[in-house]
Amino acid sequence: MSFRLSQRSRAALQGVHPDLVVVVEAAIELTPVDFMVSEGLRTAARQAELVRAGASRTLNSRHLTGHAVDVAAWVDGQVRWDWPLYPRIAEAFKAAAKTRGVRLIWGGDWPRLRDGPHFELDRRAYP
Ligand SMILES: [Zn+2]
Repeated sequence: MSFRLSQRSRAALQGVHPDLVVVVEAAIELTPVDFMVSEGLRTAARQAELVRAGASRTLNSRHLTGHAVDVAAWVDGQVRWDWPLYPRIAEAFKAAAKTRGVRLIWGGDWPRLRDGPHFELDRRAYP
């Protein structure tokens, strides 16, 4: 089974760090669950809006610098947020990152405020 990035996903990758784009492109070929890229680079104004709305806790988001992407599981023609879909997508991202030597962090592995749709380049390798 292999999926392809949609035009919308490609558009959402504009301005995202090339190493992260490479991982996304490889992950879509590995994942057992289709996904779309819902957000990549984010403006400071949008980040402030998300914090105000309670959807984000930080003004120092990796999205502001193009070091993060959010994905949405896509099943039977619709976006799905069911938690069990995201570890399956994350496995594909981790495998893709490993084979390409990219240090990637999945928000779903965070002990607090886990964020299943979120992937970012490791600050230790990508300050
Ligand atoms: Zn995110």
